[in-house]
Amino acid sequence: MRAKLVIANWKMNADKAMLAKLLAGYVAAIKPPVKAVACPPAPYLAQAQQQLEGSAIALGAQNVSQFEKGAYTGEISLSMLQDLGCEYVILGHSERRSLFGEQDTDIAEKFVATIAAGLTPVLCVGETREQRQAGETDSVVSSQLDAVVNVAGIKSFEKAVVAYEPVWAIGTGDTATPEQAQQVHKLLREKLAESDADIAQRVPLLYGGSVNAENAEELFAMTDIDGGLVGGASLDASAFAAICAAAN
Ligand code: PEP
Repeated sequence: MRAKLVIANWKMNADKAMLAKLLAGYVAAIKPPVKAVACPPAPYLAQAQQQLEGSAIALGAQNVSQFEKGAYTGEISLSMLQDLGCEYVILGHSERRSLFGEQDTDIAEKFVATIAAGLTPVLCVGETREQRQAGETDSVVSSQLDAVVNVAGIKSFEKAVVAYEPVWAIGTGDTATPEQAQQVHKLLREKLAESDADIAQRVPLLYGGSVNAENAEELFAMTDIDGGLVGGASLDASAFAAICAAAN
């Protein structure tokens, strides 16, 4: 039985006061056994680390550099994230792919570096609306997954999370049905099982795309959906806590 995991992706939303209030709400309302992770914007990681100390909520980052250190202006390294108590890193979010030109090869390098640093990568895959309409969902998500498995190796998925995030569902209110999501999650698990059946059974597969307090329970009830990656609804502590409760 895989434990449920729910990750909050705040994207580029926060200020000091908002962070303090939101995290206080998380800490007060989110109860185990669900594992919750907060991913605030990088400038607020230190404040979040202090506030989450001793709580059951883990800290994560929304991106990281694949490079170790040095002349990479504007980038953030894995050792910096470690220093700030981060345990998780979101990689290959569709906004990173579409707005900042991240390619599968960059994402694979970041994945390898994240595993080597001992943090848990949360690898995002997902198709656009056009790709779904053209019947390309399976081939798109398979090739995004393969691009990382082929470089990082299946063993590195012992300590990784995969998030299926259909691009057409992110921030649109247009959630995938539980059946649509389950179908892709099953495919992803089968793809992983081609390399290692045992690891495939253990990898948490999260669904992301307009998850909210109303639709979380039916999504999380599906066999291969092990929790969620939550954007918009994570900016409301009571909505996020309700999503975590649905996972419990
Ligand atoms: C996301 O940002 O990863 C996401 C899934 O956003 P939302 O929940 O707002 O669709």
